[in-house]
Formats: sequence, C-alpha cells, structure tokens
Amino acid sequence: MGLTPTERTVIRRGPEKAAFDVATLYDVLDSSLIAHVGICDSSGQPFVLPTAFARVENSVAFHGSTASRLFKSLAHGSPCCLTVTCLDGLVLARSAFESSMNYRSAVVLGVPQVVTGDRELAVLESISEHLMPGRWSEIRPPAEQELKATLTLVLELAECSVKIRRGGPEDVPDDLATTPWSTTWAGHVPMGTTFGTPVADPHTPANTPIPQYIGDWG
Ligand SMILES: Cc1cc2nc3c(=O)[nH]c(=O)nc-3n(C[C@H](O)[C@H](O)[C@H](O)COP(=O)(O)OP(=O)(O)OC[C@H]3O[C@@H](n4cnc5c(N)ncnc54)[C@H](O)[C@@H]3O)c2cc1C
Repeated sequence: MGLTPTERTVIRRGPEKAAFDVATLYDVLDSSLIAHVGICDSSGQPFVLPTAFARVENSVAFHGSTASRLFKSLAHGSPCCLTVTCLDGLVLARSAFESSMNYRSAVVLGVPQVVTGDRELAVLESISEHLMPGRWSEIRPPAEQELKATLTLVLELAECSVKIRRGGPEDVPDDLATTPWSTTWAGHVPMGTTFGTPVADPHTPANTPIPQYIGDWG
C-alpha cells in the first residue's frame, strides 16, 4: 500500500526526501508522542498547537478539553494540518548554508471526526498505551464526567506526506577544496529522545516498586 500525493501534499522542495510507503508513514507517527495541529480561526489567523496523539490503525487520534478552542473548532469541522516531527540529528556542514537537520516528518491534512461511546474509550486507551505503554490496565478508567469533558478526535490518514533527511552534509565542491573550510570537521551528530530516572510522587507508599513497563520504555 502506498501514499498517493495530492496537489496539496506533493513534496515540491526536496522531492528526493519524500517517502511514499505507508510503513514509513506509520513508523514516523509511531516514533513520536506529540503532534502539532494547525487550524485557521474565523478571522483567518492560523494557530498551530502541540498535542499528544497516537496512530490508531489508519488514522491519528487525539483528545482534549471540550473547553479548548482548538478541539471545539476541530469538532465543528475545521480542516486541520497535523504535523509530526522526529528530530534525528544535526548536520554540521562546512558552511552555514549547507548545515541542516536530520529528520523524519509527516504532514496529514483533513477534517477530524468526533468519536463517542465504546469507540471513544478504545481510542483513549490507544492514546494512553502509545504514550505510556503498559499503564492503562493499572489506572482508573475515565469516569462519565471525565468523558463528557473530553473531545476525542480521529483524523484519517487519507491525504498525507512524509519527508526524511538522513546522513551527512552535502557541501559545495568549493568548500571541500578551499582551506580553512576543507580542514574543518564536518559530519552529523545523531540525536534521540530518552527518559530520565522516574521520580515517585509524595503519595506513593515507600518501597513501591517502579513498574516494570517503565523500564521497557527505553
Ligand atoms: C526538523 C526539521 C527542520 C527543518 N528545517 C528547515 C529549515 O530550516 N529551512 C527550510 O527551508 N526547511 C526546513 N525543513 C523542511 C521544511 O519542513 C519544508 O519541507 C521546506 O521548507 C519546504 O517547504 P515548502 O513549503 O516549499 O514545501 P513544499 O514541498 O512546497 O510542500 C508541499 C507539501 O509537501 C509536504 N511537505 C513539505 N514539507 C514537509 C515535511 N517536512 N514533512 C512532511 N511533508 C512535508 C506537505 O504536504 C506540503 O503541503 C525542516 C524540516 C524538519 C522536519
């Protein structure tokens, strides 16, 4: 199964960085815990706000307060642009111009749908398990009042693009041949996201073991 670019999602700048397979799209989405969701308000002002999300089958799901302007607007049918960015490294070229970043990013366009009832609960579990794998089964599920205060949205992965940059710099030949630039260290510095040491809150009884699944988060 492949991604079919539309007029709006065809990557024009740096088209060699485009990826077209769904497995790569899923990998980018599954590698990130946050997405940035952009909408235009009624005056045409764009707002781009970060939110937790999860991929659920061939869609992305996110949830927020029923009082959130972003979520209210999306629930009323605002078209949105959801972007996920994985920053994989810094690219240190021999010039400022050619210096860059290594990344995997995805852009999804569409109008999210509100989900309710049993499906909402399932989607909320998927979001929780994407963010905190292993946690859902040992915490209190959402109460009815909490569900009423939550808008849960699903955006189908129908119109999407994926762009990936990997590897070292692409210096201009002159810089490779001209000192001092030619003798300057150049390359790339990989980056990743890691968790720190868990810190128990004051209500956690002493000697409560840290859950095994947290250790599995890497
Ligand atoms: C971490 C990071 C840092 C970046 N830094 C810079 C920078 O400093 N300067 C710079 O010019 N560019 C940077 N980019 C690339 C930037 O996202 C754009 O791709 C680029 O600026 C071209 O924009 P455009 O509007 O001409 O894209 P176009 O190619 O015209 O965009 C057309 C369509 O391609 C898709 N598309 C474009 N960019 C992306 C993307 N990144 N991921 C997925 N789909 C995409 C969208 O569907 C978009 O509607 C960075 C990207 C990332 C992820």
